[in-house]
Amino acid sequence: MANTTIYCFRNDLRLSDNPAFLKACSDSDFLLPLFCHPKEELFKSNIPRIGIHRQFFLRQALDELKTVLNTYNSDLIEVYGDFAEEIKKIAETIHATKIIFEKIEAPEELDQENSVRNIGINVESIWQSSMIAPSELPFKTTDMPDIFTDFRKQIEIKKIKIMPPTPKPSSVPPLPIYKLHFDKRFNPDYKFTPKKNDQNLNSSFPYLESQYSGGEMSALTHLENYLSLKLPHTYKETRNQLSGLHFSTKFSPWLSIGCISAKYIAFKINEFEKKFGANESTYWIWFELLWRDYFRFLHFKYGKNLYTKNGLNKNLESFKHKEENFNIWINGKTGNQLIDAGMKELFFTGYLSNRMRQIVASYLIYDLGCDWRKGAQWFESQLIDYDVYSNHGNWLYIAGKGTDPRGGRRFNTTKQNLEHDPTDTYKNLWKEKSINILN
Ligand code: FAD
Repeated sequence: MANTTIYCFRNDLRLSDNPAFLKACSDSDFLLPLFCHPKEELFKSNIPRIGIHRQFFLRQALDELKTVLNTYNSDLIEVYGDFAEEIKKIAETIHATKIIFEKIEAPEELDQENSVRNIGINVESIWQSSMIAPSELPFKTTDMPDIFTDFRKQIEIKKIKIMPPTPKPSSVPPLPIYKLHFDKRFNPDYKFTPKKNDQNLNSSFPYLESQYSGGEMSALTHLENYLSLKLPHTYKETRNQLSGLHFSTKFSPWLSIGCISAKYIAFKINEFEKKFGANESTYWIWFELLWRDYFRFLHFKYGKNLYTKNGLNKNLESFKHKEENFNIWINGKTGNQLIDAGMKELFFTGYLSNRMRQIVASYLIYDLGCDWRKGAQWFESQLIDYDVYSNHGNWLYIAGKGTDPRGGRRFNTTKQNLEHDPTDTYKNLWKEKSINILN
């Protein structure tokens, strides 16, 4: 009997350094590349699960992936709906013998995986989204140190190796011969267009410009440009700025849907260091990518506990979330000009610098008395680079309900203003803009 596999792309929309897809190609006689969007209702509420910026960026990436797969005489099939139900329908139609996808260690995605396992077909889920492979760590993920510095030091002492990136497949197996009968659902049409002036004017990540669009090609080109401008040598000095194209790497949108892998970035930074010299800034890019890994591995250890109101905090606090304050925050109408500028930037562009993310998150939790999970939900909807691990990890950290040894981070907006926007340049970029989200 022929091996017919469904490869379901998740946050790994690339062909280079995609070991799971490579395996699907080498193990199968026939292969159906698939992408399953969530149910359409999830796009439609006041806080859509995937807001317009991410939808658009994802659309660009999927279109490119489809075109690339076409050059291999293959294709990318898209469906909307429940992950397991959609896979089941297709598996039955094409008589699939196996389903392969990348493993995502977050609660909803693990539930999806379990439901697919219940279909009764062989399922293989392969972890591949961290810079360091779990098998290379000097501890089991379930025993990892809680504190980031301890985690980092153990990795540095052991001089952990980053596995070399894997190549693109040389060929992709042919599509299954069975005819699929739900073709009309295969080309979902996103019914919106971000407004060009809103998005790209003043944006630190203008994804409507081809250099910043979704897809593996632009991700790789962006990395090459970043390296050829020698920006890794100055990253640490500029990374806390609030706005601009080059103050930080801007890898995150592509990383979040897997147009590029963290391992590949680390490999190229390493090559750069060998060629042009290492310094504190080149090290710091690695350091930040390690934070990304850290929040991933914490999910192996704590799973669903990271998603409760009190997080890992054993002292249960009772406080009442103030919905009216949440509304002024998302609408950029708190009256604090720095916060309002940040919330408008997020809404109109889908991107926010790390510093502004910290400031607006702290303000929501400590000054406006809101539940951190509402903030995380808003970020999930709005951020172009939403990543389940990094988003929840950072919100918990700031709220003092995660693994921060200092028990949370409260940012003083007066001080932050003086340090990061003393001439009001950033605030002035956004002061004429106005958001009106009905709530
Ligand atoms: P750079 O400063 O150039 O960093 C390089 C890479 O290192 C980033 O692309 C990212 O992969 C990683 N990185 C940097 N800082 C962090 C960090 N604090 N935590 C984890 N990884 C980090 N990042 C996301 O990718 N998705 C999210 O949904 C997300 N939500 C966040 C929510 C809050 C409240 C905060 C405070 C931070 C959040 N971050 C998130 C982390 C960080 O702000 C972004 O990764 C960074 O701003 C992206 O821009 P960059 O690629 O230019 O980052």
